[in-house]
Amino acid sequence: RRITLLAGGVGGAKAAEGLMHSRYGQHATVIGNTGDDDRFHGLWVSPDLDTLVYSLADHIDRQRGWGRQHESYQTLNELKAYGEDSWMTLGDLDFATHIYRTNQLNQGKSLTQVTRSICRRFDISMPVLPATNDVVQTRIRFNNQWHSFQEYFVQHRCQPEIEAIDYQGIRQARITPEAEAAISRSDIILLAPSNPVVSLNVILAIPGVMDAIRNSQAYVLAISPFIGGKTVKGPADKMMHLLNASSDSQGVASVYQGLIDGLVIDKQDKDDALALRQQGLDVCVMPTLMSSLDDKIRVIEDALDSALAWS
Ligand code: GDP
Ligand code: CA
Repeated sequence: RRITLLAGGVGGAKAAEGLMHSRYGQHATVIGNTGDDDRFHGLWVSPDLDTLVYSLADHIDRQRGWGRQHESYQTLNELKAYGEDSWMTLGDLDFATHIYRTNQLNQGKSLTQVTRSICRRFDISMPVLPATNDVVQTRIRFNNQWHSFQEYFVQHRCQPEIEAIDYQGIRQARITPEAEAAISRSDIILLAPSNPVVSLNVILAIPGVMDAIRNSQAYVLAISPFIGGKTVKGPADKMMHLLNASSDSQGVASVYQGLIDGLVIDKQDKDDALALRQQGLDVCVMPTLMSSLDDKIRVIEDALDSALAWS
């Protein structure tokens, strides 16, 4: 069975690890979010793709959930001495990835090709693809001004009240042939428990993605990133209102309405199952908190087993 996972950063990487190590891992592909990408110190940084790759390679800092293990910050400190902004925490090992990526892009390679090379360096056999090679950047308006996603997320620690959100460049963007082929051939498309607003919606809104999903005839299953109406980590709960949705499993169902056939919700939210089923969704209730690798594999295998049974 061919599986395609749509994923953001931290929540996406947990699902990606579970998928790669599951019995479905052989024929699986991950499509990652590039809406958080930005330039720092002249280098192109793709935080969500790197979180996916470092996690799959087991080089991720498990405490933080992002960045490399055994990291040091000499380069960033030196740049700071020059007066460069240093709020974006980039470690020495991490810098090498961004130098390599930027150099390859400057030589005319696509982000898809560069990401493939980075996966090869880390011995990751499961394909990790951006949905597009075009630059699409999430912009967030607060204090009456538009800001980059990282200014909101890292520099301002998700504190400001968000007034509006925009995916800059999305109208001119196009799905890659690689992402389109992966989606088209899928039996199951799994939406990771990622931020619906700034991770998965960016992927889904890229021209060609929704068409590819519809044409695939795949069974589409989402895992809710909310447990008991709260996020495990991150600002998704402060963003759902931008899509006129609540920050719970019901809100996830409404954001993905018409797209998903089934939804995995946490055991804590089991009382939502009836209403969701009345809306025509297949609902799977299970503990969805993924801490250990065993948790990740269990959640993904149980979710995919259910999807296969329903499809
Ligand atoms: P980001 O790009 O690093 O912000 O990460 P994602 O968009 O991929 O994922 C963020 C979402 O993952 C948050 O809304 C969290 O609630 C969710 N999340 C993180 N860990 C877990 C988990 O173990 N289980 C579930 N159900 N959701 C999780
Ligand atoms: Ca992200």
